[in-house]
Amino acid sequence: MKKRIALFPGSFDPFTKGHEDIVLRSLNLFDELHVVIGHNTYKKRHFDIQWMIGRLKTLFEKYENIKVDTYNELTAEYAKKKNAGYILRGLRNTTDFEFENSIAQINNDLCPNLETIFLITSPKFAYISSTVIREVHSYGGDISKYLPYKI
Ligand code: ADP
Repeated sequence: MKKRIALFPGSFDPFTKGHEDIVLRSLNLFDELHVVIGHNTYKKRHFDIQWMIGRLKTLFEKYENIKVDTYNELTAEYAKKKNAGYILRGLRNTTDFEFENSIAQINNDLCPNLETIFLITSPKFAYISSTVIREVHSYGGDISKYLPYKI
């Protein structure tokens, strides 16, 4: 049977407990999951990309079927290269839905066999967003309880 390979692409600036929850819940659906940070040279990050990759590699090291990497191209192209048939995304609310809806359709247009699979956030993580965490962190607030690794 064909291996079900999925990408979980994101900025992950930073990767949160909400993201981790989506990753772990998806393991029943896919044979292999690539957690990949889209690396865009124009977009300045708050958390260094190599630092983030290091944290994610340690976090998921006991899972043989989870890979961690960066990419710097269209997600649909990267998916083709990795033989991934699925893109995994999380949905918290209708704002996420509006955004995700058009991305999923574009990706499917660019690569017709690529399906986006959405998992609804667990209520306990629904309020966690990377944007808010960056804001708290930039004013010196403690963000450790939102992250699944030590900062
Ligand atoms: P991007 O910049 O590509 O939107 P993010 O790192 O912000 O990347 O998010 C990656 C994915 O994770 C998106 O589908 C987003 O909706 C989802 N996500 C973000 N925060 C949460 C959360 N707390 N619970 C579930 N899904 C989430």
